[in-house]
Amino acid sequence: MDDSVQVKCTRCKSAFRERARRLQNGYSRQCVTCEVVLFFDEDSPDANIKKAMRMARRVRKELREAEAEFRPRMMSRRGSARHATDDESAA
Ligand SMILES: [Zn+2]
Repeated sequence: MDDSVQVKCTRCKSAFRERARRLQNGYSRQCVTCEVVLFFDEDSPDANIKKAMRMARRVRKELREAEAEFRPRMMSRRGSARHATDDESAA
């Protein structure tokens, strides 16, 4: 799953991708093109930054949900078909 979001530079308007996990309040990074330092904050006056923060938040949520689903759970019967082969070799 893609865990990065697109960020648009305030100055040169070039787009680059950054990991959603890193895009939290207080995070800063340089634009790969013009090297201006972008500060990430959900209350940023910059619409590009705000949009990136919103997207990062959504991606982080999706990642959490995907991880929860991937992890085998006692309550869930999903994935039992995949475990059947393990049982076979063990028996
Ligand atoms: Zn730039």
